[in-house]
Amino acid sequence: MNIGIDVGGSHIGLGIVDNDGKIIFKQEKDYLTQEKDMSDVVMNTINTLINEITARGSIDLKNIENIGIAFPGTVSNGVVVKAENLGIQNLKIADFLTKNFNCNIKLENDAKCAAMAENKYGSLKNYDDALFLIIGTGVGGAAFLNGQLLKPKRYSGFEVGHMVIEKDGIRCNCGRNGCFESYASMKRLKEKIKNEFNLPNSDGKQIREFILNNKENEKLSLILKNYIEYLNIGICNLINILEPEAISIGGSFAHYKEIFLERLEKKMSEKVELYNKENVPKILIAELKNDAGIIGASMI
Ligand SMILES: [Zn+2]
Repeated sequence: MNIGIDVGGSHIGLGIVDNDGKIIFKQEKDYLTQEKDMSDVVMNTINTLINEITARGSIDLKNIENIGIAFPGTVSNGVVVKAENLGIQNLKIADFLTKNFNCNIKLENDAKCAAMAENKYGSLKNYDDALFLIIGTGVGGAAFLNGQLLKPKRYSGFEVGHMVIEKDGIRCNCGRNGCFESYASMKRLKEKIKNEFNLPNSDGKQIREFILNNKENEKLSLILKNYIEYLNIGICNLINILEPEAISIGGSFAHYKEIFLERLEKKMSEKVELYNKENVPKILIAELKNDAGIIGASMI
């Protein structure tokens, strides 16, 4: 049995996962504060979650082989090198947690974790050549060729969100202008809708309802059209490089499936961006939803 921990932009999920990838216990916690540098908040929240499950008797850590952490950023050898959206740099998270819990702590990029889970148990289990995208606060990715996860030796790699798709475009947290995630993340889309329609306090669910209830609104249609166009550019770039059989999309994008999936498929089929137009991959929505990060973290 392993523990999988999924670190997100606004909360952390922890699950006890059996050897068949099944979550037998799960608990989530929102961050109580949003600091510029979230290092302490993240570590304290993970600490609290582990302490809570042990105190409650849900698990004895002696029965746990590994604690895996899925982190939204660049990771290397148990260290979060950088996580732009959490303002974190050089956080030695494995050392810190090993001291506290005397457990084997492993760390991996969150998109890679979710991809491993989808590849073994979910939407991508029937494909050898596949691309996984996680579209939420940012845009992350992972790819499989011949059934193998592409994994560089040192850093996590595959920072698809920071592929430039617009010269002199919006300034990204990473310092470049015009990054894919500055146009295609759900965070950016939601912010744009909130600003344009004066909905400062709407959450993701309310934004989704707003879109569904205002299909005829011209300003909104233009925002959605632009969003799909940028998403299409980024995805077609990746298809041209990797020629996957299928692409699975997870993250909060999955909740907007009926709003975006058909439009994206249509855009991809009508545009000339695919180099091999006869080889259009299947576009799928991640099946394991919010659990993919936890399950994947438990598999590291
Ligand atoms: Zn960037």
